[in-house]
Amino acid sequence: MSFKYKDEIFNSLSLIRELVKDYNACPECGSKGIGSNTKLGSMDYNGKLGTFERTCRCGWKVKIKVEKI
Ligand SMILES: [Zn+2]
Repeated sequence: MSFKYKDEIFNSLSLIRELVKDYNACPECGSKGIGSNTKLGSMDYNGKLGTFERTCRCGWKVKIKVEKI
């Protein structure tokens, strides 16, 4: 599977790596331990979209939809 993100093409593994890098620290509280304990973020695949979700204990969360190509 290939995905388009920020005008670049990623495979599913490198995409998650890139997303985790982009959302490593919480923009609200600065926590780098985003996610429930060890969970760094989750990726769901649904049809032609990949949805990346990441949450922080302060309540911040991000949901990114990435187009499959
Ligand atoms: Zn936070």
